[in-house]
Amino acid sequence: MKKTIKDINVKGRYVFVRCDFNVPMKEGKITDDKRITGALPTIEYLIEKGAKIVLCSHMGRPKGKVNPEFSLKPVADRLRQLLGTDVLLANDVIGEDAKAKHDSLRDGQVMLLENVRFHKEEEENDPEFAKELAWFGEFYVNDAFGAAHRAHASTAGIADYLPAVAGFLMEKEVKYLGEAINNIERPYTAIMGGAKVSDKILLIENLLKKVDALIIGGGMAYTFIKALGGNIGTSLLEENMIDLAKDLLKKAEVEGVKVLLPVDTVATTEFSNDTPSQVVDVMKIPDNMMGLDIGPKTRQMFADQIGHSETVVWNGPMGVFEMSNYEAGTRAVAEAMAKCQGKTIIGGGDSAAAVNQFGLANEMLLVSTGGGASLEFLEGKVLPGVACLEDRERRPFIAGNWKMFKTIKEAEKFVEEFKAIYKKDEAEVGLIVPYLQLETVKRLTEGTGIRVGAQNMHFEDYGAFTGEISAPMLKEIGVDCCIIGHSERRQYFGDTDEAINKKLKKALKYGITPILCVGESLEQREAGLEYEVVEKQIKADFAWIPAEQAVNAVIAYEPIWAIGTGRTATAEQANEMCGAIRKVLAECYDESVASAIRIQYGGSVKPANASEILNQPEIDGALVGGASLKPEEFSQILKF
Ligand code: ADP
Ligand code: MG
Repeated sequence: MKKTIKDINVKGRYVFVRCDFNVPMKEGKITDDKRITGALPTIEYLIEKGAKIVLCSHMGRPKGKVNPEFSLKPVADRLRQLLGTDVLLANDVIGEDAKAKHDSLRDGQVMLLENVRFHKEEEENDPEFAKELAWFGEFYVNDAFGAAHRAHASTAGIADYLPAVAGFLMEKEVKYLGEAINNIERPYTAIMGGAKVSDKILLIENLLKKVDALIIGGGMAYTFIKALGGNIGTSLLEENMIDLAKDLLKKAEVEGVKVLLPVDTVATTEFSNDTPSQVVDVMKIPDNMMGLDIGPKTRQMFADQIGHSETVVWNGPMGVFEMSNYEAGTRAVAEAMAKCQGKTIIGGGDSAAAVNQFGLANEMLLVSTGGGASLEFLEGKVLPGVACLEDRERRPFIAGNWKMFKTIKEAEKFVEEFKAIYKKDEAEVGLIVPYLQLETVKRLTEGTGIRVGAQNMHFEDYGAFTGEISAPMLKEIGVDCCIIGHSERRQYFGDTDEAINKKLKKALKYGITPILCVGESLEQREAGLEYEVVEKQIKADFAWIPAEQAVNAVIAYEPIWAIGTGRTATAEQANEMCGAIRKVLAECYDESVASAIRIQYGGSVKPANASEILNQPEIDGALVGGASLKPEEFSQILKF
């Protein structure tokens, strides 16, 4: 997880925002302002927070020279309209005028630098130039997803000089595109189209490893049809890709991926909207004809596949949608995606244009604003404009589990004493108390920043479950965290991974931070099974939980043999296991999710060993048992 503008305090500060205002223009007029409207949430947020906002973008290819044809003036005009406020346009990038306008900015005011590609140093990622740009800000915000696949001075280099975070558009693109390759809900269907196989080889290869079904349409389909021995007439063909097409089909078979190729095609004699067309069998296209769209049977077949998918990723139109007679196939796919209940993600410039043309963009989960960038992201490449942003830090979280100790009176006494010695900025603190004490502790800690949690919850909202408490009930009294799957629950009350998984889902759904406990028993450790056991627990407990929810969980590693026995894992053992847990999370999700989730250690943490344990790099806090019962002792641990 990358830091976003929500993680920085921008009031009264200069914020340099790289946007992608590279909008299509015709005769000096903007023909499509999606990229400008896409940046508005970030800009409006910064205005509202009272930042001094310096916007930066490129436009077209002025090749490192000042060229008024590529001025951002039309963008500034459109921005003024959309924001309903003034936007100062500098008439240079890092020159006198830009600097004077920068100095004149008031809180909540916006300025736009001229086209950053007026300097050749931009595309060269020149460090001196990056530093000059950095002069304009105290923070760097990258919201230019469409330029994130380029390592240029304003998209990556500048991050060497300023704290760097993502804007909302960047966050959204990375999140949803990330889900298409890392956190998949099945059945998962990829739709590939567009002109050439050669443009999309890496993409197809990467997606083949992940999808359940691969739909191939558009111009590239004919090379596959040819590879299967079909007659494709004068349709688009890449001779030198025929063998590769065969290979890809073989790979799909090995991976168990269902491949759907067109069965019929709309063919005509010339690449033109005006020559008569007919629907023909895709394997028997007449010699003088070319296929420019998928036929009606194919449309139906593709739509059926899309209809029962949970995730659909689409890149490349199904036909020459720019011509009215050959847009029906692309439209059919867009409509099927609009109807699909699952996650629908569109990458690729022309595919996005098609969806916009059909007015269906709002029906999709994500229509990426970055053509080339979305392609590279889906190919699995690291984008420099994303990599340069700071990862979200894991603030230590120390929670005291009172178990079945303390009456309400004792709880009151504890909280009063603890409040007197507790310091807000030391670590995030949680008191995990018995159900009956929740309301009291919640009330007494109001406004202190101390988190209050329960020790267990049921996975149903309500029902005939005598003796149980549900997530909405906890929510009602303001409880914001809850232990789930504590070793004592697993051991004495028979909590299974299946039940724990349901509880975890429910807690996350209600915005209650679950503190998920995992750990091995003495026998398991002695048999050398500790890693295997914990891996199995993590995988089962997080099953089917999407990444954007998983990041909100906290994990507590509790070696069961170290609880109440006075034995402890060494700091190294504990650190190693927390690192191993993080690896499992990276496997289930990705590195960014793994690095965002906090992992506590729980097993006889006391003032004497707190410092050694809590300073290990993989350990982000502790779940404290016995030592959390006395205010003095507990607060000692917080000072680690
Ligand atoms: P994206 O930008 O979405 O990644 P591409 O750039 O790969 O998509 O491909 C888009 C182009 O493919 C469109 O201009 C479209 O006209 C062309 N195309 C699609 N089907 C055919 C076809 N059957 N014959 C020729 N060109 C096609
Ligand atoms: Mg394209």
